Amino acid sequence: MAAAHNAYIVAKDSNPGYVNSEWPGFQDFLEDLVEDLVCHVTTVRAPPIIHSVRPTQHLHTLKQRDDGLYKVCYECKLLGLKGKSAKTNCAICKVPVYIKCLQIHQKKML
Ligand SMILES: [Zn+2]
Ligand SMILES: [Zn+2]
Repeated sequence: MAAAHNAYIVAKDSNPGYVNSEWPGFQDFLEDLVEDLVCHVTTVRAPPIIHSVRPTQHLHTLKQRDDGLYKVCYECKLLGLKGKSAKTNCAICKVPVYIKCLQIHQKKML
């Protein structure tokens, strides 16, 4: 019952116009709710709100740089290699990353 009451308050908070016309009192809401539960009526529910999206590797994708210049790959530089020249940047880190080094880069960012 407490959960139902909370649901009513939340519904009223998020959509007062609709709730007040449809269920002016908690009793009205409860009757509808029970009917739904008993009859297994399919109701349209709002999609769940995703509170936080953890950054994942696929966010580190390559983006063609606007300047069109070749720059030394950031990952190669870290490894002390002479370095492949990259015309692409990591979209997240904004550093030059050679296309073949993208996998190394993404693994590091996990
Ligand atoms: Zn590299
Ligand atoms: Zn990155």
